[in-house]
Amino acid sequence: MTNFEISRTLSRVAKVLSFKGVERKRITDIKILSMTVEGLPFELNRKSLERVEKYLLNKSYLKKILRDLVVYGKSEEIEILLRDVPPSLLELTRIPGVGGRTLKILYERFGVVDIYGLESVLKDGLLSRVKEIGLNGEEIIKKNINKYFKLKREFSLSTAESLFRHIKGILINHGAKRVEIAGSVRRKKEIVSNLNIVCEVENPTRFKKNLKGDVSTIKFIAKGDHIEFLYGDCEIPIKLLVVPKDYFGSALLFFTGPRNFSNYLISKGKDYGYKTLPPGYLWIRGDEKEILNILGMRYIPPEVRERWKEYLDMNGLLSNLNIKGDLHVHTNYSDGISSIYEVVSFARDMGYKYIGISDHTKDLKVVNGLNEKRLMKERLEVRKLQSKFPEIKILFGAEVNIRQDGSLDIEESALRELDFVIASIHYGFYLDREINTKRMIKAIRNPYVSIIGHPTGRKIGERERMNMRYDLIFKEAERTGTIIEVNATNDRLDIDSNMAYDLRNREVLFSIGSDAHFAPQLHSLSNFGVFILRRALVSENKVINTFNLNHLLEVLGRKRRSFNKDND
Ligand SMILES: [Zn+2]
Ligand SMILES: [Zn+2]
Repeated sequence: MTNFEISRTLSRVAKVLSFKGVERKRITDIKILSMTVEGLPFELNRKSLERVEKYLLNKSYLKKILRDLVVYGKSEEIEILLRDVPPSLLELTRIPGVGGRTLKILYERFGVVDIYGLESVLKDGLLSRVKEIGLNGEEIIKKNINKYFKLKREFSLSTAESLFRHIKGILINHGAKRVEIAGSVRRKKEIVSNLNIVCEVENPTRFKKNLKGDVSTIKFIAKGDHIEFLYGDCEIPIKLLVVPKDYFGSALLFFTGPRNFSNYLISKGKDYGYKTLPPGYLWIRGDEKEILNILGMRYIPPEVRERWKEYLDMNGLLSNLNIKGDLHVHTNYSDGISSIYEVVSFARDMGYKYIGISDHTKDLKVVNGLNEKRLMKERLEVRKLQSKFPEIKILFGAEVNIRQDGSLDIEESALRELDFVIASIHYGFYLDREINTKRMIKAIRNPYVSIIGHPTGRKIGERERMNMRYDLIFKEAERTGTIIEVNATNDRLDIDSNMAYDLRNREVLFSIGSDAHFAPQLHSLSNFGVFILRRALVSENKVINTFNLNHLLEVLGRKRRSFNKDND
């Protein structure tokens, strides 16, 4: 199995387990493993498996499942589990108000297996009569059912990239010589709705015939150089452009887009006397860089092509090479899989200069959130561990919960002992706009809150961003010196590049956080987070992950100091 297939299988397993109401910890572990595999920068095989397995020493059931899927391509345990529940039923959890318990009622009492079944049950007003749902619950589902269709069409960059790697293997098996991703995925857009691929093929007729036999389950359209299909039950439309070898670079440049950039290149090409080939790209040989040079331009990285004019006026973008650390990391003290030791050694091996431990706190009981006492115990362990890691500084913080009234779930006396505090919202996403705005502003005004975590609360394909007055919230962050997080977890990517772009000229600093719950997930900071800020054209001196340790500590302590001064 490829990473894509493994991750998709595990994600389904997690949903089935939650439907069955098994112990929460097991579900979380599977979900974390699924997300980790999807976001890995390398494909898992017998050999590379070891790089993940060595962090699963204390999780024998996860280790076994992963090994079965990677080495044997199947797991009997999983097959039995998945047979029980129709996948279309599990999809309904995208609707706010439909959780595991409601799903069970829908399935067992009303025989609902998909969205159409749910619609008909709602039409008949049957749900309000169920004690556990009631009139109120039915209203919430009715109000939100339309979100299902919107969220269903949203795929995170991470999912799209892992699907691409999977599809690439298939295309090469069918004789494709060269396969590259284009379109919004290549531009690293956080949410994508299709996969554009450029493909060099020697014998297009044979290629199309073979491919059709392998991937077409629902839809396969081949028209000239274009092929469009769906893969398995995955709903991302895949669009292939078949091109001859000599014009691969030109086709890739054109189909990476965005449209206004491609149109600009075409008109520029015309000025230079170049013709356009029928699918739309310029009749120029060479790779992208050479073609841009021929048109009198310098190379523009795909992720900034939406803002290419501004990019050309800049002095450089944030680079992965300058990332020195990560402050948003969970361990097995709360709901993470890895121990503090494992996280720190992984970060050290990545070449980081510092790593911040930030576990969940007490309001989040379901994820084993820490109260003040356990937090101080973890702090002691972190401080002790430091002597074993002279190469990397371990900072100790927490991801505290912002309550509905904007207060935090940890006492000030404990917050004072932390090197930094990330404050995030973890429930009550659908409160009134004004209430949530006030709630967030109150948290920002807390002198101990250094960073606001996953500020909009969105989950790609699952939950829209919270309805708040972001203008006021970011203004308050700027005024108080509160850092805004760019959360790099596969399904969050929050804030996104558009929000970061709007903020780039304000006096606001950004912190990219992997929000890793398993050591190998630390990779997501560079894989996804850095690209959000590159797309936003945020300069490196606004990103605290690039600061050296002293500078970072100064910045993290600045807000507290200014509050103390005001109170003197
Ligand atoms: Zn969080
Ligand atoms: Zn977190």
